[in-house]
Amino acid sequence: MTATLLERRYQTLGPYSPLFYDEPLEFVAAHDVWLTDARGEQYLDAYNNVPQVGHCHPRIIAAMADQAGRLNIHTRYLNNHVVDYAEQLLGTFPPELNRVLFTNSGSEANDLAFRMVRQATGASGVLVSDFSYHGHTSYLAGLTTGLRTGEALAAEVRPIRIPDMDRTTLSEADLLAASFAEVDAAIESLDRAGYGLAGFLFDSLFSTEGLNTLPAGYITGVIDRVHAAGGLVVADEVQSGFGRTGTHFWGHQRIGAAPDFVTLGKPMGNGHPIGGVVTSSEMLDHFGPHNNYFNTFAGTPVSAVVGSTVLSILQDEQLPQKATILGASIKESLEKLRAEYPFIGPIKGTGLFFGFEVFDDEARQTPSAGRTKQLVEAMKRNHVLISRIGRDDSVLKIRPPLAFRSEHADRLLDALKISLKEV
Ligand code: PMP
Repeated sequence: MTATLLERRYQTLGPYSPLFYDEPLEFVAAHDVWLTDARGEQYLDAYNNVPQVGHCHPRIIAAMADQAGRLNIHTRYLNNHVVDYAEQLLGTFPPELNRVLFTNSGSEANDLAFRMVRQATGASGVLVSDFSYHGHTSYLAGLTTGLRTGEALAAEVRPIRIPDMDRTTLSEADLLAASFAEVDAAIESLDRAGYGLAGFLFDSLFSTEGLNTLPAGYITGVIDRVHAAGGLVVADEVQSGFGRTGTHFWGHQRIGAAPDFVTLGKPMGNGHPIGGVVTSSEMLDHFGPHNNYFNTFAGTPVSAVVGSTVLSILQDEQLPQKATILGASIKESLEKLRAEYPFIGPIKGTGLFFGFEVFDDEARQTPSAGRTKQLVEAMKRNHVLISRIGRDDSVLKIRPPLAFRSEHADRLLDALKISLKEV
């Protein structure tokens, strides 16, 4: 069955759109943190962050069905649900971030944010991490450094290396100084080329990069430099937002950043396509009068009701608080495993997004994409879904729905213990 479906997929979607695993999984149902495949077997989801509050959460299904049965219309008419949701969402930000524009995806959110950034600054230069992904529009393809796009980097983009304390022989102070020097040089080069600095775009957890452990003061230092050069700062919260990091509802708050724009996506609708750009009324005033921004499907009453229910569940079920506690305890267990396996690097991450680098050798010198892949496949054989990230594809990516509980963590760790023995 699955083999036939795969062939039909190749014959329709083509063979290039990525599929996980050597033998792809075919899922037919999901609930909470469990997925059921076509053979009726259950898999623990320790990978997917879109179903942040759990797959097919009954409150979301009920709210979505109820609103879909009443009214679903675009935003050129007044509707209370959209405004109620905007108020609820903005309530999770500090008072200066007081405006939201809705989109349908994270890509749209980043694309729109950078239109606003360019119009507010009159400049076009962009600083972005040298191993990152922020979306698939043609503008964002021009600043994608962590995935193939088939296109050259745009001339006005300067990739910068995001420092990682787990991957350096330098002291923290020296790493910080070298990183700031790189940022200063990139800003100067944009100036010399006549682009000027429009903005700096970063993922608050540096997920694609492999969950970098930043030297203290890095992000605030970069932001100061960007602002001093007249640029603006966009924090991409598509992966790190909505309580993912546990201690802070927004990932940028954990690293002390005060961005001018925050972009949202993935977990915002728990699977329903909603994204957004949050900014200040001042930034919106640079953009609004000159643009007739309208988006047919974004911010409909159904999307608003779904988004609002996600926020309410996160709060009512105290999922970010639970993520802090459970994440810390899983990290502790991973530390113990690390003591047993010399090829495991430092344990990385925060809240319910964590992993570790996997090495070839006991001296932990050479990152091992091969062993990491074997681990991901072994976890699948043990019916637990995880993945891998990082510039060497060697960092395990464990990022379950926030509905994950201690019994699931036990199951995850048991599977990891078995899988580590196999590689
Ligand atoms: N930003 C980040 C950090 C992402 O991880 C992604 C998707 N992986 C995007 C933006 C793009 O979001 P979407 O796929 O919803 O367009």
